[in-house]
Amino acid sequence: MNHPLQCRCGTLKGYVDTARPVNRAVCYCKDCQAFAHFLGRPSEILDSYGGTDVIQTVPAKVTFTQGREALACIRLSEKGLVRWYAKCCNTPIGNTAADFRLSFIGLIHNCLEAPPASLDESFGPVRMWSFTKNAKTKVNAGPFGMVPGIFKILAMVLRARLNGAYKRTPFFLIDTGAPVVIPKVLTRSERESVYKDVG
Ligand SMILES: [Zn+2]
Ligand SMILES: [Zn+2]
Repeated sequence: MNHPLQCRCGTLKGYVDTARPVNRAVCYCKDCQAFAHFLGRPSEILDSYGGTDVIQTVPAKVTFTQGREALACIRLSEKGLVRWYAKCCNTPIGNTAADFRLSFIGLIHNCLEAPPASLDESFGPVRMWSFTKNAKTKVNAGPFGMVPGIFKILAMVLRARLNGAYKRTPFFLIDTGAPVVIPKVLTRSERESVYKDVG
């Protein structure tokens, strides 16, 4: 089954294959919060505790059907994840590693909220609460914390590496390994400004 993916204004469209494995997490880390502030949409992206609802899967399951020219990305620092968004309306898309061979994307809920299917129907309930120490209030991370989710993600990445699925990604040029658009690395003052907004 495919779940529709689109930015708020409808320029960028595509779909996500909902076949398992897929992990659903809420991430409270400061970097995810900083990205929401960078996009100027913290109240739409973050829940009331500062969490971002993410669907973690492999990029091979993501297909864009129109508006690829609207894709843009940033890195909060030289070493950070590549954080993708639609620049037409600042809708977050998701976070990938900088190396496409680490076949992973954390899709951010805002680009997956077009009806008819709900996130729960397509991807199941949230199973992981990450970096809860950065939540705005105490959040229960479950008895095993991030461990089961991390194992699931590692298995997903390893399987994609072994079966070659890592070579199918709409975010990177496989010949060179370069992202399809050059990430903008935030300057020190830009970085300080977004983290100040996170508080
Ligand atoms: Zn848009
Ligand atoms: Zn995070």
